[in-house]
Amino acid sequence: QAKLAGKGRFHIFDAQRDSSLRVHNESVERIRLALRDQEFVLHYQPKVNMQTGKLIGAEALIRWEHPQRGLMPPAQFLPVIEDHDLAIAVGEWVMDTALTQVERWRSAGLDIAVSVNIGARQLQQADFVERLRAILALHPQVHPGCLELEILETTALEDVAQISQVIASCAVLGVRFALDDFGTGYSSLTYLKRLRVSTLKIDQSFVRDMLEDPDDLAILQGIIGLARAFGRELIAEGVETAEHGRMLLQLGCDVAQGYGIARPMPGMDLPAWALTWQPEPGWSTQGVDMAL
Ligand code: C2E
Ligand code: MG
Ligand code: MG
Ligand code: MG
Repeated sequence: QAKLAGKGRFHIFDAQRDSSLRVHNESVERIRLALRDQEFVLHYQPKVNMQTGKLIGAEALIRWEHPQRGLMPPAQFLPVIEDHDLAIAVGEWVMDTALTQVERWRSAGLDIAVSVNIGARQLQQADFVERLRAILALHPQVHPGCLELEILETTALEDVAQISQVIASCAVLGVRFALDDFGTGYSSLTYLKRLRVSTLKIDQSFVRDMLEDPDDLAILQGIIGLARAFGRELIAEGVETAEHGRMLLQLGCDVAQGYGIARPMPGMDLPAWALTWQPEPGWSTQGVDMAL
Protein backbone atom coordinates (compact mmCIF):
# COMPACT_ATOMS: atom_id res chain seq x y z
CA GLN A 1 0.00 0.00 0.00
CA ALA A 2 2.80 2.39 0.82
CA LYS A 3 3.93 2.19 -2.78
CA LEU A 4 0.57 3.57 -3.84
CA ALA A 5 0.70 6.64 -1.65
CA GLY A 6 -0.46 9.12 -4.25
CA LYS A 7 -2.47 12.18 -3.34
CA GLY A 8 -6.06 11.00 -3.02
CA ARG A 9 -5.70 8.59 -5.88
CA PHE A 10 -6.05 5.29 -4.12
CA HIS A 11 -8.96 4.00 -2.14
CA ILE A 12 -6.86 1.86 0.17
CA PHE A 13 -4.78 4.81 1.26
CA ASP A 14 -7.82 7.04 1.70
CA ALA A 15 -9.52 4.46 3.88
CA GLN A 16 -6.49 4.33 6.15
CA ARG A 17 -6.48 8.09 6.35
CA ASP A 18 -10.17 8.25 7.20
CA SER A 19 -9.82 5.78 10.02
CA SER A 20 -6.83 7.61 11.48
CA LEU A 21 -8.81 10.84 11.35
CA ARG A 22 -11.75 9.18 13.11
CA VAL A 23 -9.59 7.88 15.91
CA HIS A 24 -7.79 11.14 16.55
CA ASN A 25 -10.44 13.60 15.53
CA GLU A 26 -8.10 16.60 15.40
CA SER A 27 -9.59 19.57 13.65
CA VAL A 28 -7.90 22.16 11.49
CA GLU A 29 -8.66 24.66 14.26
CA ARG A 30 -6.94 22.50 16.88
CA ILE A 31 -3.88 22.22 14.63
CA ARG A 32 -3.86 25.99 14.16
CA LEU A 33 -3.73 26.38 17.95
CA ALA A 34 -0.92 23.83 18.13
CA LEU A 35 1.15 25.97 15.76
CA ARG A 36 0.38 29.14 17.74
CA ASP A 37 1.17 27.44 21.07
CA GLN A 38 4.41 25.94 19.74
CA GLU A 39 3.38 22.34 20.27
CA PHE A 40 5.19 21.21 17.12
CA VAL A 41 8.78 20.04 17.27
CA LEU A 42 11.23 18.82 14.68
CA HIS A 43 13.25 15.66 15.08
CA TYR A 44 16.25 15.08 12.87
CA GLN A 45 17.42 11.85 11.29
CA PRO A 46 21.07 11.61 10.21
CA LYS A 47 22.05 10.90 6.60
CA VAL A 48 25.40 9.22 6.44
CA ASN A 49 27.94 7.84 4.04
CA MET A 50 28.02 4.20 5.17
CA GLN A 51 31.44 3.60 3.75
CA THR A 52 33.34 6.55 5.19
CA GLY A 53 31.14 7.18 8.23
CA LYS A 54 30.75 10.82 7.24
CA LEU A 55 27.60 12.58 8.44
CA ILE A 56 26.18 14.28 5.32
CA GLY A 57 23.14 15.99 6.74
CA ALA A 58 19.89 15.40 8.56
CA GLU A 59 16.23 15.30 7.61
CA ALA A 60 13.81 17.39 9.65
CA LEU A 61 10.65 15.45 10.54
CA ILE A 62 7.75 17.14 12.28
CA ARG A 63 6.08 15.78 15.44
CA TRP A 64 3.29 17.13 17.57
CA GLU A 65 3.89 17.18 21.30
CA HIS A 66 0.22 16.88 22.08
CA PRO A 67 -0.55 17.76 25.70
CA GLN A 68 -3.01 14.85 26.03
CA ARG A 69 -1.95 12.34 23.38
CA GLY A 70 1.83 12.57 23.63
CA LEU A 71 4.22 12.67 20.70
CA MET A 72 2.21 12.30 17.48
CA PRO A 73 3.73 11.36 14.09
CA PRO A 74 2.97 13.52 11.03
CA ALA A 75 0.67 10.92 9.46
CA GLN A 76 -1.79 11.67 12.26
CA PHE A 77 -2.16 15.38 11.58
CA LEU A 78 -0.60 16.54 8.29
CA PRO A 79 -3.35 14.87 6.18
CA VAL A 80 -5.97 16.93 8.08
CA ILE A 81 -4.47 20.20 6.81
CA GLU A 82 -2.96 19.13 3.50
CA ASP A 83 -5.61 20.93 1.41
CA HIS A 84 -5.75 23.92 3.72
CA ASP A 85 -3.73 27.15 3.86
CA LEU A 86 -2.57 26.13 7.31
CA ALA A 87 -0.28 23.62 5.60
CA ILE A 88 1.67 26.59 4.24
CA ALA A 89 2.05 28.21 7.67
CA VAL A 90 3.20 24.90 9.18
CA GLY A 91 5.59 24.35 6.26
CA GLU A 92 7.15 27.78 6.72
CA TRP A 93 7.52 27.16 10.45
CA VAL A 94 9.37 23.93 9.58
CA MET A 95 11.78 25.70 7.21
CA ASP A 96 12.49 28.52 9.65
CA THR A 97 12.97 26.12 12.59
CA ALA A 98 15.24 23.80 10.60
CA LEU A 99 17.44 26.73 9.54
CA THR A 100 17.66 27.88 13.16
CA GLN A 101 18.81 24.37 14.02
CA VAL A 102 21.55 24.55 11.37
CA GLU A 103 22.80 27.73 13.09
CA ARG A 104 22.81 25.96 16.47
CA TRP A 105 24.66 22.96 15.06
CA ARG A 106 27.27 25.27 13.61
CA SER A 107 27.78 26.87 17.03
CA ALA A 108 28.28 23.35 18.36
CA GLY A 109 30.91 22.68 15.69
CA LEU A 110 28.71 20.61 13.39
CA ASP A 111 28.55 21.94 9.84
CA ILE A 112 25.87 19.93 8.06
CA ALA A 113 22.95 20.37 5.68
CA VAL A 114 19.32 20.02 6.61
CA SER A 115 16.54 18.52 4.50
CA VAL A 116 12.96 19.70 4.82
CA ASN A 117 9.87 18.00 3.41
CA ILE A 118 7.67 20.31 1.33
CA GLY A 119 4.02 19.49 0.74
CA ALA A 120 2.16 20.00 -2.52
CA ARG A 121 0.15 22.98 -1.36
CA GLN A 122 3.20 24.90 -0.22
CA LEU A 123 5.16 24.08 -3.35
CA GLN A 124 2.32 25.14 -5.63
CA GLN A 125 2.02 28.65 -4.17
CA ALA A 126 2.62 31.24 -6.86
CA ASP A 127 5.16 33.04 -4.65
CA PHE A 128 6.87 29.99 -3.17
CA VAL A 129 10.36 31.07 -4.24
CA GLU A 130 9.88 34.61 -2.92
CA ARG A 131 8.75 33.30 0.44
CA LEU A 132 11.65 30.87 0.59
CA ARG A 133 14.03 33.74 -0.14
CA ALA A 134 12.47 35.74 2.71
CA ILE A 135 12.93 32.83 5.15
CA LEU A 136 16.56 32.38 4.06
CA ALA A 137 17.09 36.11 4.65
CA LEU A 138 16.17 35.54 8.32
CA HIS A 139 19.22 33.25 8.54
CA PRO A 140 22.08 35.14 6.89
CA GLN A 141 24.67 32.85 8.54
CA VAL A 142 23.27 29.78 6.77
CA HIS A 143 24.45 29.12 3.26
CA PRO A 144 21.44 28.24 1.04
CA GLY A 145 23.43 25.20 -0.13
CA CYS A 146 22.83 23.81 3.36
CA LEU A 147 19.12 23.54 2.63
CA GLU A 148 17.61 20.69 0.65
CA LEU A 149 13.90 20.49 -0.09
CA GLU A 150 12.36 17.02 -0.33
CA ILE A 151 9.32 16.71 -2.52
CA LEU A 152 7.37 13.55 -3.18
CA GLU A 153 7.81 12.16 -6.64
CA THR A 154 4.00 12.08 -6.87
CA THR A 155 3.80 15.81 -5.97
CA ALA A 156 6.40 16.72 -8.57
CA LEU A 157 4.44 14.93 -11.26
CA GLU A 158 1.23 16.85 -10.54
CA ASP A 159 2.51 19.80 -12.53
CA VAL A 160 5.90 19.07 -14.01
CA ALA A 161 6.13 22.38 -15.87
CA GLN A 162 5.47 24.51 -12.78
CA ILE A 163 7.58 22.40 -10.42
CA SER A 164 10.56 22.30 -12.78
CA GLN A 165 10.37 26.10 -12.93
CA VAL A 166 10.42 26.29 -9.11
CA ILE A 167 13.37 23.91 -8.97
CA ALA A 168 15.27 26.05 -11.47
CA SER A 169 14.56 29.27 -9.54
CA CYS A 170 15.64 27.65 -6.26
CA ALA A 171 18.83 26.44 -7.93
CA VAL A 172 19.67 30.09 -8.60
CA LEU A 173 19.34 30.72 -4.84
CA GLY A 174 21.56 27.69 -4.19
CA VAL A 175 18.81 25.54 -2.67
CA ARG A 176 18.76 21.90 -3.75
CA PHE A 177 15.88 19.49 -4.27
CA ALA A 178 15.45 15.78 -3.67
CA LEU A 179 12.74 13.52 -5.07
CA ASP A 180 11.42 11.65 -2.03
CA ASP A 181 9.94 8.14 -2.03
CA PHE A 182 11.46 7.72 -5.48
CA GLY A 183 10.17 4.74 -7.41
CA THR A 184 6.64 4.89 -6.02
CA GLY A 185 5.25 7.35 -8.57
CA TYR A 186 4.95 7.11 -12.31
CA SER A 187 8.25 8.69 -13.11
CA SER A 188 9.66 8.23 -16.53
CA LEU A 189 13.02 9.13 -17.93
CA THR A 190 11.42 12.13 -19.58
CA TYR A 191 10.22 13.57 -16.27
CA LEU A 192 13.57 13.04 -14.65
CA LYS A 193 15.14 14.95 -17.48
CA ARG A 194 12.81 17.90 -16.87
CA LEU A 195 13.01 17.83 -13.07
CA ARG A 196 16.53 19.02 -12.27
CA VAL A 197 16.62 17.67 -8.73
CA SER A 198 20.07 17.00 -7.31
CA THR A 199 19.08 13.89 -5.34
CA LEU A 200 16.95 10.79 -5.74
CA LYS A 201 15.75 9.26 -2.49
CA ILE A 202 14.97 5.59 -2.97
CA ASP A 203 11.74 4.68 -1.24
CA GLN A 204 12.13 2.54 1.84
CA SER A 205 9.78 -0.16 0.54
CA PHE A 206 12.39 -1.27 -2.01
CA VAL A 207 15.13 -1.33 0.60
CA ARG A 208 12.95 -3.29 3.02
CA ASP A 209 12.01 -5.92 0.44
CA MET A 210 15.19 -6.18 -1.64
CA LEU A 211 16.59 -9.09 0.37
CA GLU A 212 13.52 -11.27 -0.23
CA ASP A 213 12.03 -9.98 -3.46
CA PRO A 214 14.12 -10.14 -6.66
CA ASP A 215 11.75 -7.66 -8.32
CA ASP A 216 12.44 -5.04 -5.65
CA LEU A 217 16.15 -5.71 -5.96
CA ALA A 218 15.87 -5.21 -9.72
CA ILE A 219 14.00 -1.91 -9.27
CA LEU A 220 16.64 -0.78 -6.81
CA GLN A 221 19.43 -1.61 -9.23
CA GLY A 222 17.53 0.23 -11.95
CA ILE A 223 17.16 3.36 -9.83
CA ILE A 224 20.85 3.30 -8.91
CA GLY A 225 21.77 3.03 -12.59
CA LEU A 226 19.35 5.82 -13.45
CA ALA A 227 20.81 8.15 -10.82
CA ARG A 228 24.33 7.44 -12.13
CA ALA A 229 23.32 8.02 -15.75
CA PHE A 230 21.69 11.35 -14.89
CA GLY A 231 24.45 12.41 -12.52
CA ARG A 232 22.15 12.68 -9.53
CA GLU A 233 23.02 11.94 -5.94
CA LEU A 234 21.42 8.90 -4.46
CA ILE A 235 20.25 8.14 -0.95
CA ALA A 236 18.49 5.07 0.37
CA GLU A 237 15.94 5.46 3.13
CA GLY A 238 14.65 2.78 5.50
CA VAL A 239 18.06 1.20 6.13
CA GLU A 240 17.11 -0.85 9.18
CA THR A 241 19.80 -3.53 9.37
CA ALA A 242 23.51 -4.04 8.77
CA GLU A 243 22.53 -6.42 5.97
CA HIS A 244 20.60 -3.66 4.17
CA GLY A 245 23.64 -1.42 4.39
CA ARG A 246 26.01 -4.07 3.11
CA MET A 247 23.75 -4.87 0.17
CA LEU A 248 23.29 -1.20 -0.76
CA LEU A 249 27.04 -0.62 -0.68
CA GLN A 250 27.55 -3.58 -2.99
CA LEU A 251 24.97 -2.09 -5.34
CA GLY A 252 26.80 1.25 -5.35
CA CYS A 253 24.62 3.32 -3.01
CA ASP A 254 26.75 4.86 -0.26
CA VAL A 255 24.45 7.36 1.39
CA ALA A 256 21.76 6.10 3.70
CA GLN A 257 19.24 6.98 6.32
CA GLY A 258 17.32 4.61 8.55
CA TYR A 259 16.66 3.18 11.98
CA GLY A 260 19.72 0.92 11.53
CA ILE A 261 21.87 4.07 11.63
CA ALA A 262 19.80 6.30 13.89
CA ARG A 263 16.20 7.09 14.70
CA PRO A 264 15.04 10.68 14.30
CA MET A 265 16.18 12.62 17.41
CA PRO A 266 15.93 16.11 18.91
CA GLY A 267 18.33 18.50 17.19
CA MET A 268 20.36 19.11 20.34
CA ASP A 269 21.23 15.39 20.52
CA LEU A 270 22.80 15.25 17.07
CA PRO A 271 26.30 16.64 17.82
CA ALA A 272 26.88 14.00 20.51
CA TRP A 273 25.51 11.28 18.23
CA ALA A 274 27.87 12.40 15.45
CA LEU A 275 30.87 11.97 17.74
CA THR A 276 30.07 8.36 18.58
CA TRP A 277 28.67 7.01 15.32
CA GLN A 278 30.72 4.39 13.50
CA PRO A 279 29.73 2.46 10.39
CA GLU A 280 29.16 -1.28 10.80
CA PRO A 281 32.44 -3.22 10.42
CA GLY A 282 30.92 -5.10 7.46
CA TRP A 283 30.09 -1.88 5.65
CA SER A 284 33.13 -1.67 3.50
CA THR A 285 33.19 -2.49 -0.17
CA GLN A 286 36.96 -3.04 -0.10
CA GLY A 287 37.55 -6.26 -1.95
CA VAL A 288 33.90 -7.00 -2.52
CA ASP A 289 33.06 -8.41 -5.94
CA MET A 290 30.79 -5.76 -7.45
CA ALA A 291 29.40 -8.12 -10.08
CA LEU A 292 25.89 -9.21 -9.19
P1 C2E B 1 9.60 10.75 4.53
O1 C2E B 1 9.98 12.13 4.18
O2 C2E B 1 9.79 9.71 3.49
O3 C2E B 1 10.41 10.43 5.86
C1 C2E B 1 10.83 9.15 6.23
C2 C2E B 1 9.92 8.53 7.25
O4 C2E B 1 10.35 7.20 7.51
C3 C2E B 1 9.89 9.22 8.61
O5 C2E B 1 8.62 8.98 9.21
C4 C2E B 1 10.97 8.45 9.36
O6 C2E B 1 10.84 8.53 10.77
C5 C2E B 1 10.70 7.05 8.87
N1 C2E B 1 11.89 6.20 8.90
C6 C2E B 1 13.19 6.57 8.89
N2 C2E B 1 14.00 5.50 8.90
C7 C2E B 1 13.19 4.41 8.92
C8 C2E B 1 13.44 2.99 8.94
O7 C2E B 1 14.57 2.51 8.96
N3 C2E B 1 12.34 2.19 8.95
C9 C2E B 1 11.06 2.68 8.94
N4 C2E B 1 10.06 1.80 8.95
N5 C2E B 1 10.80 4.01 8.91
C10 C2E B 1 11.85 4.86 8.91
P2 C2E B 1 7.77 10.16 9.84
O8 C2E B 1 8.65 11.08 10.62
O9 C2E B 1 6.60 9.54 10.52
O10 C2E B 1 7.29 10.96 8.57
C11 C2E B 1 6.42 10.38 7.64
C12 C2E B 1 6.24 11.26 6.44
O11 C2E B 1 5.58 12.48 6.82
C13 C2E B 1 7.55 11.72 5.82
O12 C2E B 1 8.04 10.69 4.97
C14 C2E B 1 7.12 12.95 5.06
O13 C2E B 1 6.55 12.61 3.82
C15 C2E B 1 6.05 13.50 5.97
N6 C2E B 1 6.62 14.59 6.79
C16 C2E B 1 7.38 14.51 7.91
N7 C2E B 1 7.70 15.74 8.36
C17 C2E B 1 7.16 16.61 7.49
C18 C2E B 1 7.14 18.05 7.40
O14 C2E B 1 7.74 18.77 8.19
N8 C2E B 1 6.44 18.58 6.34
C19 C2E B 1 5.80 17.81 5.42
N9 C2E B 1 5.14 18.42 4.40
N10 C2E B 1 5.80 16.47 5.46
C20 C2E B 1 6.48 15.88 6.49
MG1 MG C 1 11.48 13.03 3.31
MG1 MG D 1 10.68 9.13 1.94
MG1 MG E 1 7.55 8.53 2.86
